[in-house]
Amino acid sequence: MFVGHYAAALAAKAVQPKAPFWTYVLGAQLVDVAWAGLVLAGVERISLDPHLPGSPLVLSYIPYTHSLPAVAVWALAAGLAAYFLLKLPRVAAVAIGLVVLSHWGLDFLVHRADLPLWFGGPKVGLGWWNAPVPEQALEMGLLAMAAAAWGWRRGLQGHSGWSAPLFVVLLVTVQLASILAPPTGGPSQMVIASLSAYLLATLFAWLMDQTERRGR
Ligand SMILES: [Zn+2]
Repeated sequence: MFVGHYAAALAAKAVQPKAPFWTYVLGAQLVDVAWAGLVLAGVERISLDPHLPGSPLVLSYIPYTHSLPAVAVWALAAGLAAYFLLKLPRVAAVAIGLVVLSHWGLDFLVHRADLPLWFGGPKVGLGWWNAPVPEQALEMGLLAMAAAAWGWRRGLQGHSGWSAPLFVVLLVTVQLASILAPPTGGPSQMVIASLSAYLLATLFAWLMDQTERRGR
């Protein structure tokens, strides 16, 4: 899942605009950013099977980033960092924590059974990746609904311009590119490409925060 996770970020920004946009955008993929780092470090293990439908990922060992208790710890850490380091209001820090937590729920829908319920525990996942068309419809539908709410909230706040629609278009473009031209190469290349997309989305969101703060 790629764009579906960002639906959580847009919805959160619509509901609780006190947190900077970049914190939600990073929060939505925080455990995947950590996953990329730990896979590259050889701590978590994945492989690719290009014959699998939906996603070639075989996530054989991802307990530190994608087990349920681990995601809860990442969410708590993100909330605490938002409150103590970024000095955000408590409601905004809670919203960031919930966005981080949402990653597990959304992954649960699409992943094949590779998400550990606890360390060494049974692995779960509803496996919508095996039905790529409904899976894509789910992700795009979630993004469209969240983007509508986000756009409406931005309108109320007097934000206009091209940056928000461009952000959504860029997300959808990355999603379509990964479907139409799946990354070739090994797991490391795929992980680096994914990490680059997460960090670019965060950078774009941060730039939006800066320009909109200056505009106020
Ligand atoms: Zn994930």
